[in-house]
Amino acid sequence: MSEQAVIDPLRFARDGESLERSVAVASMPRLDDRLASTDGEIRFRLAGQGGGAAKRLTLRLRIEGELSLICQRCLEGYAFRLDVDETLVLARSEAELAAWEDADPLCEGLVAEPQLDVLGLVEDAILLALPMVPRHPEGECPAE
Ligand SMILES: [Zn+2]
Repeated sequence: MSEQAVIDPLRFARDGESLERSVAVASMPRLDDRLASTDGEIRFRLAGQGGGAAKRLTLRLRIEGELSLICQRCLEGYAFRLDVDETLVLARSEAELAAWEDADPLCEGLVAEPQLDVLGLVEDAILLALPMVPRHPEGECPAE
């Protein structure tokens, strides 16, 4: 737990701040049982948007890197290219978020707590980006 990063998301977005960092894969324990190896690191960039005339404050999160996933066919590790680019709308309450999601099922939102753990957010986004059933790309699995 060496690399803490906590922000106030509403202020971060309003001020158009950004944060860019490399993170060791080994420092994200929730990824452990999905990975063949926790070597290496990923890079992320979080940018606040929506100051001024914009109606909603958002955070744009981009994550790049390579993870070693476990192929469910041969149980060997293979390199998975991580490429996340998502925009999270900041709601001020659960009710506000629920109303937005009702209006737009594709809305990806987040209730803005005064202290947002950025690395936890990055870890969540990576977990969602992993394939449900990891496998070597077609034609590259030794078990085929
Ligand atoms: Zn395989």
